[in-house]
Amino acid sequence: MDKPVYVIGHRNPDTDSVCSAIAYAHLKQRLGHPNVRPARPGEITAETEFVLDYFGVPVPDLLTDAAGQNVILVDHNEIGQALPHIEQARILEIWEHHRIGDLRPPEPIVVHCEPVGATATLIAEQYFAHGITPTRSMAGIMLASILSDTVGFRSPTTSEKDHAISSRLLPLADIDPDTFGQQMRKARTTALEHDSVASLLANDFKEFRIGDLRVGISQVEVVRAEALAPRKHDLLNEMRRLRRAQHLDQVILMITDVTEGASDLWFVGDHVEIFEKAFGHLEDQAVHVAGCMSRKKQVVPRLESVMPGTTTLPAQA
Ligand code: MN
Ligand code: MN
Repeated sequence: MDKPVYVIGHRNPDTDSVCSAIAYAHLKQRLGHPNVRPARPGEITAETEFVLDYFGVPVPDLLTDAAGQNVILVDHNEIGQALPHIEQARILEIWEHHRIGDLRPPEPIVVHCEPVGATATLIAEQYFAHGITPTRSMAGIMLASILSDTVGFRSPTTSEKDHAISSRLLPLADIDPDTFGQQMRKARTTALEHDSVASLLANDFKEFRIGDLRVGISQVEVVRAEALAPRKHDLLNEMRRLRRAQHLDQVILMITDVTEGASDLWFVGDHVEIFEKAFGHLEDQAVHVAGCMSRKKQVVPRLESVMPGTTTLPAQA
């Protein structure tokens, strides 16, 4: 038997990351590659657990070190977000919907990067391009990923293609998207109330190199803006601890109010002037940013655009 090829998403995996890996491995198997398997780089979230349970899909195996492995990456292409020792892995393909990162595989490989709302949109498109109908469970977890990443098509990252692909997945998944979306959100927010401050921050934490700075950005979605206010003191302390432990210049917590479609940004770290130039004046370590829902399309590009020496033009938010 050939050496396994692991399809794997980013650290602190979200629903899109885990489910895109599963669905793409499944497609590869159906295309005649039985050695392709899904994997995950860490614990899955309560939302992902709900989705996999709902469609009866097993949780993928844990892979914690990339050294010497054959891998296909989904939903990321930055070293800071990948498995440890990713530079010592053989990367065969990348399927992605974020900015081009700093992973530079030495050989020519397949890289598909497209500004859509979820990696799962690109994976589902591959099923249809190969004339393969996804099973109910695969269609379901891909649709769930799109709903999750686009916050029910409300995030500014949502594209025409996400809508088009979702409408093809919907009859196959056989769910009511509104009810299902609510259940997913409930799984997430219930967990939020019981999570420790450490896991709250770690759940959806990503590291970025922005200019010369290393910036950690965590995102939490809430249905009530003030949901985390009582734990602010503890959360800010945990952000400071994380910053020291991971040698980061800045740590930002993005609390996205999915009801209002806006975010509060909490900040700790150096170069506060750069942060304030991008988002406005901090009060009690926090600033409210109207209309802001996307880390990759709004927060990261805005920080990039105010970074000294930046030459790229900022995208319109
Ligand atoms: Mn993701
Ligand atoms: Mn994604």
